[in-house]
Amino acid sequence: MNLALWLERAARLNPQAPALMRGTQLIADYDTFLTRVLRLATVLCDDMGIEAGDHVAIFLPNTTEYLEILNAIWAVGAAAVPINAKLHPREAAWIVEHARSRLVFATGHAREALMALPEMSDRQVIDPFAAELDAACHNASLARIEPRQPSDTAWVFYTSGTTGRPKGVMLTHGNLMAMAQSYFIDIDMVEPGDCTLYAAPMSHGAGLYSLPFTLRGARHVVPVSGGFDAEEIAGLAPHLGNVCLFGAPTMVRRMVARSRESGYDGAGIKTVIYGGGPMYVADIMEAVERLGPRFVQVYGQGESPMTITALSRAQVCDRTHPRWRERLASVGVAQSCVEVIVADDDGTALPSGRAGEILVRGPTVMKGYLGNEEATARTIKDGWLRTGDIGAMDAEGFVTLQDRAKDVIVSGGSNIYPREVEEVLLTHSDVAQVSVVGHPDPEWGESVVAFVVPETGSVVSTEALDAWCLSQIARFKRPKRYVFVPDLPKNAYGKVLKTSLRDHLNGCQADVEPM
Ligand code: AMP
Repeated sequence: MNLALWLERAARLNPQAPALMRGTQLIADYDTFLTRVLRLATVLCDDMGIEAGDHVAIFLPNTTEYLEILNAIWAVGAAAVPINAKLHPREAAWIVEHARSRLVFATGHAREALMALPEMSDRQVIDPFAAELDAACHNASLARIEPRQPSDTAWVFYTSGTTGRPKGVMLTHGNLMAMAQSYFIDIDMVEPGDCTLYAAPMSHGAGLYSLPFTLRGARHVVPVSGGFDAEEIAGLAPHLGNVCLFGAPTMVRRMVARSRESGYDGAGIKTVIYGGGPMYVADIMEAVERLGPRFVQVYGQGESPMTITALSRAQVCDRTHPRWRERLASVGVAQSCVEVIVADDDGTALPSGRAGEILVRGPTVMKGYLGNEEATARTIKDGWLRTGDIGAMDAEGFVTLQDRAKDVIVSGGSNIYPREVEEVLLTHSDVAQVSVVGHPDPEWGESVVAFVVPETGSVVSTEALDAWCLSQIARFKRPKRYVFVPDLPKNAYGKVLKTSLRDHLNGCQADVEPM
């Protein structure tokens, strides 16, 4: 079944129901939403040559058109390749090429920068706001939604691997249907009067969560700012009512800070789903006290999107169970459609309480990595997805994450892969060695710190390295701090001891001596 059928069904049932909004302004009801999608699908097919099975990239900030494009891509039977709008155009171009997308939607400076790159010369870069596209859609007939199998790819989710190069996670129509159905069971029931507010990037979790809201004919609201602004949300929520939003722990912390200043009590918000990075117990407790019983935690990863475990609203609010505090520090229990175990290196389940790698099996687990069978075989063994996350499960099934085996830094809700930043810094002629780690940060969750060994006889400044990073990677990935050292601590095999670097930052005794 094609995911776009959910939109068609909602539009038939309630054509006049509000569907797309920008802030408090209504942009389209469900009938208009569907009509625009089916016309765009015809243009994609007839004018742009897109066929079932093709990949179409979306390099756009949050906008209501994002949802039209996404559904139009599905309607023609193609797969969407959403790209984080915060990425550098060169990084986006790499993804477009890797995903073999012949067409990419982009706008403004990002579009110009993309078009200037040689690797984009044989690809179409379409501006969704261009008058020509509008005219073409105006005259187009309504497309028929292509039949799709559950195993057909719907979304290629680019997540960075430890090798520093992003991997394309192939998520199928079947994966995303199972994810959306789990939403109703494990996260929240959605009523037609509810709305989902896109405060986080649509290229990731917030966009994936558009599905349960389309299925139930609820409202999709893109804030005027296009992203997260605590003040805007506090102003918008009481007007909209029944607001649901997905956000990183950083966003929750900012909403709490806003509440401290203004006394905002969460009015108009139904549910805040937080995840993607660790949430500290004191922070979520204050969030519940100030904003009310509106929080649900989700733990997932691109390879099993939004669907590994969840900590329900009742569990987040519970202050009576003898172990409520441990539960609040956990990521909850396995979601309904997946099996979750903690296993040793051989994949054998460990007894409760023992730490090991978290493994997941079920209908939400990806088809594999696009064009990378080797990595797929390493990651999915005997049907079990190896998450790379280390944690333990208690006797009642609550999973507590202990470490991220992959050393990923989660800053402001975005994942930053140290290896990628290290590789950029290493290309600077004055840098001999480098190691990048995350450091706890009250505002961002974690911040990026680079330990740099300069080339012998060279002097390199923070400013020079910052400019170097800015020219090659997204702003949010560049280190917030540099520590210059004569050498890096290494083990007997010559591997850098990142733990010593983190210990040094935490003020502990460690064999790290800044220059
Ligand atoms: P991504 O594939 O970009 O969605 O990143 C997924 C990774 O983020 C997971 O493998 C975890 O390491 C981390 N993560 C996701 N959800 C949570 C959570 N609720 N608490 C702590 N870490 C999380």
